[in-house]
Amino acid sequence: MREDSRRWIEEDRSHCWHPFTRQADWCAEEPLVLVRGEGVWLWDSEGRRYFDGNSSIWTNIHGHRHPRLDAAIRAQLDEVAHTSFLGFANPRASELSARLSGLFPDGTLERVFFSDDGSTAIECAVRMALQYRLNRGENGRTGFVAFENGYHGDTLGAASLGGVGRFTGLMQRFGFGVKRVTDVAALEAMPESESAGIAAVILEPLIQGVNEMRLWPQGMLAALRRWCDARGIHLILDEVMTGFGRTGRMFACQHENVTPDFLCVAKGLTGGYMPMAATLTTSAVYDAFLGCAEKTFYYGHSYTANPLGCAVALAGLDVFEQERVLENLQPNIARMEELLAGLKERCPQVHEIRQCGFIAGIELRQPDGNRFPAETRTGETVCRTAWKHGLLTRPILDTIVLMPPLAATEEELAFAVAALEKAIGEGAR
Ligand code: PMP
Repeated sequence: MREDSRRWIEEDRSHCWHPFTRQADWCAEEPLVLVRGEGVWLWDSEGRRYFDGNSSIWTNIHGHRHPRLDAAIRAQLDEVAHTSFLGFANPRASELSARLSGLFPDGTLERVFFSDDGSTAIECAVRMALQYRLNRGENGRTGFVAFENGYHGDTLGAASLGGVGRFTGLMQRFGFGVKRVTDVAALEAMPESESAGIAAVILEPLIQGVNEMRLWPQGMLAALRRWCDARGIHLILDEVMTGFGRTGRMFACQHENVTPDFLCVAKGLTGGYMPMAATLTTSAVYDAFLGCAEKTFYYGHSYTANPLGCAVALAGLDVFEQERVLENLQPNIARMEELLAGLKERCPQVHEIRQCGFIAGIELRQPDGNRFPAETRTGETVCRTAWKHGLLTRPILDTIVLMPPLAATEEELAFAVAALEKAIGEGAR
C-alpha cells in the first residue's frame, strides 16, 4: 500500500466518524480512499478504477468532472464563492429560482427556498406546512401523515417523519408525533374527525429508496393527491432521490401528472457537486407568510443559496437541455432492465429486481427463497467483493442498489452488471 494511502486510513480511523456506520467494523476492515473521478469512474488512492454504481450516494447525475459543471464552478469562483442570502440577493440564486419554477410550466411551484441537503429541504417543507396553518389561524391542523418505511433525512424533524425502524427508533420516542400509514386505502378509511387535524402528508413518490427500493402501485400518487385535495391537506413530495431524471422524467410526480404543494429536491440538483437543496412551493403557501412580522418564516442556514451551488445547478439544467439527457436515457433504462433480467436468470440468489427508471434494487436471498441470515451481512459482503471487479455501490440490507449516473453508456452498464454478477457468485453463499 502506498505511504499516503496508509496515512489517510490511519487518520480516518483515529479521527473520522462515518455516517450510518458501525465504526468498530469500519476500523477492522480496509477502506478505499477515493481520490479522483471522471465520468462514471472513480479512482482510489492505489490507482484502481471503479464504476460509480450508486452515483456517489445517489447524487451524481452527469458524471464526475463534467466539463460544463466544472467550468460553471470555476467561473463562479472568479466572481465570489459565498455571499449571505440573509439580507442580500445573488445573481445565480435569482436565475436558478426562475429556472426551477419554470420546470413547472403551469406556474404552480413559483417559490423556491434554498437549503443545504435533503434533510434541510424536508425540514423546511415541514416547518412551512406547519406555520402555514398557524398563520391562518388553523391551530387544530398541525398533524402530519407519513408512510411506513419512508425515509426523509436525519435532522430531528425529518427523522420524526421517517418510518424505517432501525434508523428512527430514537425519534419515535423523542421526535414529534406522526400518523403512519401503509397505503392510501388507510387514509381513505380515516374518519373526518382525524383528517381534519392533518396539515400535510409526506411521500417519496413512485419508489421508497431506503425501504430497499420498493415501488408504489401505479396510480398511488394521483390517488393520494385526490385524497389531499378533497380535505384541504397539503402534499409534500420528497424527490430528494427521484428528482432530476432518475425515474426517466425530470421529476417522479410528472409520471402521474401530480403537482405537490411542496417539492423537496437535493442530491441531483447540483449533479452531486455541491451540498445544496431546494423546497419549491406555491403562491398560496407563500402568501400566507405575508402581512405582520409574526407570520415571517424564521428558518435558514449560513449557506442558503450558496452561489457555487446555484452556479453548478444552473449548469446541470443546461446539460439536461443541451445534451438531451432525458431523451438519451430512455434506451439505457430499457437496457438496464434487460441486463438485470439476464442477471436474475443466471443468479439463483437474485430474488427480485425492483427498477424505476435508472434506479434499481436487486434483492438477494438464498436460492430456496429464504433470507440470508443477518449475521452473514450478505449485501455488504457482495458490495465489498464487487470492489475487486471494479464496481462501487452500497447495499440496503441485502438489496444491492444500482443507480449509475444518468450519463452511463450501454457498455458501462454492461460492465457494472457483469461485475455485480461475479460479486454475487462469490459473495452471496
Ligand atoms: N429523502 C430521501 C428520499 C432520501 O433518499 C434522502 C437521502 N438518502 C434524504 C431525504 C436525506 O437527504 P440528505 O442525506 O441529503 O440529508
